[in-house]
Amino acid sequence: MKIILLGPPGAGKGTIAKALMQFDGSVQISTGDILRSAIAAGTELGKQVEAAMAAGDLVTDELIMGIMEQRLQQEDCKKGYLLDGFPRTIPQAEALKELLAKLGEKLDCALELDIPTDVIVDRLTSRRTCVKCGEIFNVKYKPPAVEGICDVCGGDVVQRDDETEEAIQNRLQVYNDQTAPLVEFYRNGGLLVSVPSSDIDDVMAAIKSRI
Ligand code: ADP
Ligand code: ZN
Repeated sequence: MKIILLGPPGAGKGTIAKALMQFDGSVQISTGDILRSAIAAGTELGKQVEAAMAAGDLVTDELIMGIMEQRLQQEDCKKGYLLDGFPRTIPQAEALKELLAKLGEKLDCALELDIPTDVIVDRLTSRRTCVKCGEIFNVKYKPPAVEGICDVCGGDVVQRDDETEEAIQNRLQVYNDQTAPLVEFYRNGGLLVSVPSSDIDDVMAAIKSRI
């Protein structure tokens, strides 16, 4: 399947993408993960985006489109992909539309995880991430078996620096201003599927009724 995952930061896009990946071999493409590994590797790209990301601001559309134009043409995308954190702005959505037309590809749907803000803030402040493999934990609901150590790979489990209270408020603001309009964009394009839940069974049911 070829799906865009929409929803505020902390809605569960990454978790849903990983579950859907098991289902039919589609790959998860997370622009946030791509940028974070560039920072960790200290590449030129990483240096360019570091400050914006730590503050919870978006990086430029040009930069993101450059990354995605290459990424979507890699071999593993043939089976399908789950776009997690992209597109993030109307210009990115327009550019993606053009890119897909050029590649002769069609999206199955844009799946919106429609989760209320208070739930989001609580989740994000208690979220912890493995620096090595990206596995997500939650200090309240899903703590690692050993504090600070990843169950999957043994890497360090930490709070992302864009998950401080201040950065989270900014990310939600950025989401409302720049990304929320995509819901209308995809509704108008006839692609929107909206689910008021981050539960994988609810999400699967919605997707199956659609494709
Ligand atoms: P979230 O949990 O907020 O969905 P992501 O891991 O998707 O976070 O992204 C983290 C950060 O990476 C964003 O706050 C932004 O700085 C940058 N980023 C990721 N994807 C994009 C994109 N499509 N356009 C612009 N910036 C992006
Ligand atoms: Zn790990």
